[in-house]
Amino acid sequence: MKRNRLVAGNWKMHGSLAANRKLLDAIVAGAAGLGGVECAVCAPFPYLAQAAECLRGSKVAWGAQNMSEHLEGAYTGEVAVSMLKDFGCRYVIVGHSERRQLFRESDAQVAAKFVAAVTHRITPILCVGETLEEREAGRTEEVVGRQLDAVVNKGEFAQAVLAYEPVWAIGAGRTATPEQAQAVHAFLRRKVPSETVILYGGSVKPQNAPAIFGMPDVDGGLIGGASLVAEDFLAIARAAARKG
Ligand code: PEP
Repeated sequence: MKRNRLVAGNWKMHGSLAANRKLLDAIVAGAAGLGGVECAVCAPFPYLAQAAECLRGSKVAWGAQNMSEHLEGAYTGEVAVSMLKDFGCRYVIVGHSERRQLFRESDAQVAAKFVAAVTHRITPILCVGETLEEREAGRTEEVVGRQLDAVVNKGEFAQAVLAYEPVWAIGAGRTATPEQAQAVHAFLRRKVPSETVILYGGSVKPQNAPAIFGMPDVDGGLIGGASLVAEDFLAIARAAARKG
C-alpha cells in the first residue's frame, strides 16, 4: 500500500520572530514546487500564531511540540489541545524523548496526551525510541514495543503518525544505519494499521536522508537540527518526495 510521505521539523526551543519569518518564508517558497510529500513545522507555543500567519494557504502545515493531557483547568504553564486547535495546528508531537527524559513523562501520561489529541482531531506524532544502553542490551524491541503498546491499545492509531527516534541518534550527529532504522520500523509496522505513517528521526541531514528514506518502511522524517536551516529541510523533503 502507498502511504503518505511526511517530513516534519521539530524546532525545539529555538527561534525568534525575525529568524522564524525568514525560515518560514524560505520553506514556503521551496515547498511550493514540491509534490508527493507533506511538510510541517512544529514550533514553540509562542510562535504558533506566527506560524499560522506565515503558513496559512501554503503547502506547509504546522503543529506544536507538546501539549497537556488535561483539557482545561488549574495547570499553570500548561497548554491544552483546544488552544492548539485555535491556532490551526494539524500536528502535535507527543512523547519526544526529551520530554520523557528531562520532564519525566511516563508512558501513561504520553498515552493520555495521545488520546486527547486524537479526540480533538489533531494528529499526534508519537515518538518512541531506545537509549544506547537499551540497544546494547538487546532491548530495543522491548522498549519501543512497550512505549507503543501503552498507546495502541487506547487511541485511534489510524489517525496518528509514529516516529522512531533512537535516543542515541538525536542531536548526536550519529544516526541509525538505514538497516537499523528499517528493522525497527518493520517491527513497529506490525503493531499499527497498515496505513500508519512511520517517520525516522535522529540526525537526519540532506546527506543521509536518501538512504534512510529508501527503506521500505520509512515514510519520512522528524527533523530536529536540520529543520532550522531552510535549504537543508527542503533538501530532506525532496529526498522523501523522490521515494515516490
Ligand atoms: C528530534 O529531536 O526529534 C530530532 C530528530 O533531532 P535531530 O534531527 O537534531 O537529531
